[in-house]
Amino acid sequence: MPNDPSEPPTAAASFEEMPLHPTIRAGVRELGYTEPTPIQRRTIPDAVLGRDLIGTAQTGTGKTAAFLLPILERLLDHPTGRTLALVLTPTRELALQAKEFLDKLGRHTRLRGAAVYGGVGMGEQERALRGGAEIIVATPGRLLDHMNRGYVNFGSLEILVLDEGDRMLDMGFLPDVRKILSRLPKRRQTMLFSATMPPEVVRLARDFLQDPKTVQVGETAAAAVGVSHLGLPVPAHLKTELLVELLTDETMSSVLVFTRTKHRADRLARQLAIKRVDATVIHGDRSQAQRVKALDGFKTGRHRVLVATDIAARGIDVEGVSHVVNYDIPSEPDVYIHRVGRTARAQRLGDAFSLVAREEEDDFHRIEQKLGVEIRRARVPGFNYDQAAPERSSSSAGQFRGGGGGGGRRDRRGPPPRDRDRGRGGRPGRGRPSGGRPSSEPRRERRAVW
Ligand code: AMP
Repeated sequence: MPNDPSEPPTAAASFEEMPLHPTIRAGVRELGYTEPTPIQRRTIPDAVLGRDLIGTAQTGTGKTAAFLLPILERLLDHPTGRTLALVLTPTRELALQAKEFLDKLGRHTRLRGAAVYGGVGMGEQERALRGGAEIIVATPGRLLDHMNRGYVNFGSLEILVLDEGDRMLDMGFLPDVRKILSRLPKRRQTMLFSATMPPEVVRLARDFLQDPKTVQVGETAAAAVGVSHLGLPVPAHLKTELLVELLTDETMSSVLVFTRTKHRADRLARQLAIKRVDATVIHGDRSQAQRVKALDGFKTGRHRVLVATDIAARGIDVEGVSHVVNYDIPSEPDVYIHRVGRTARAQRLGDAFSLVAREEEDDFHRIEQKLGVEIRRARVPGFNYDQAAPERSSSSAGQFRGGGGGGGRRDRRGPPPRDRDRGRGGRPGRGRPSGGRPSSEPRRERRAVW
């Protein structure tokens, strides 16, 4: 990939030019990375020197390696047996993912990593914190639980990373993060990475960072390149019907569906099961074992659809998510950017469909304003937008429960209208909605992420 002419001279064009030890480069090679992404090119040379950093780049463009590689490089020759680096992440899934990534990148080094997060036993994590691992990736709540038990010693800590930095410094996490920071050495390297970084977060972050270098790749308000966005106006009561209709398109092979609440996620998953759509669900009220199972099932392709709350909106890296569907429109535009960033990762392409009820138009409009684009609206051909709301005699959950033998099913639709797209020309199976994806370019020829 050619170097961006606007990049500063400190950017390294290739992994060979980067100040990385051969054992670390071996890990990079084994992951199949041939060249660094822009955020990696522009942060790693400074990060390995110990400089504080604020790094912003679109979702799916390699931020995790941008901080893990310098951590490995800086700690390579250090005496082992103490926590030397701490990465804070907002969700358990992200902690696990970053730890697994660390294991791969660092597999030829003697450095050890551990993930510390809630919902599982404390014992193994305690051993890691007592000296079993040099690099800890943690969610704040569980880490504080350990810290309050007195055996955590961060006296030797050299590097702190706030992954999804804006989330870590928002009102939800800030109190815990402040408590953790107050117990870390003042002299340390601090790095903050995210795809979205509101100015107020940058201001706040300056309290924790010393003379940080700010690296911004692309527009911070932009969704990942490679995502095509489509708004599908629909009455609120027909959202599930419309989703099921969309899913008759087999090119929607790996679909992440976001709902506003855990309750709505559960309800939608039940409704999809009734409609014989293979779906699993992930949200914060599920047990850790259920969360792992759902995500693994989706990652491995065992489940075609993952219904999720915004717990899965950030950072989760699932190869080949073909579509993100916003079943509910998020009220925060940044959340939209993170959600749709689950597709079109690592130079791939993806579609983001948003089911927009009339009462969500304002939120959707604010997303458009933030992105600086007008998102195309479309109607799904043949879909009956005039269907009445389901009867309210049974509960919202009960009405879809079927009660064995399909007796309670209300699926009045006929067979999937597979021939509706005929005549759209050249795009069989893709972009069922009329007026959807621009029909000119085939997907694979469109612009890459990096
Ligand atoms: P991240 O933004 O860190 O979640 O990374 C998004 C995806 O890009 C992950 O699947 C990474 O494995 C992949 N990735 C990261 N760096 C590179 C690279 N230099 N070359 C190719 N893929 C990469």
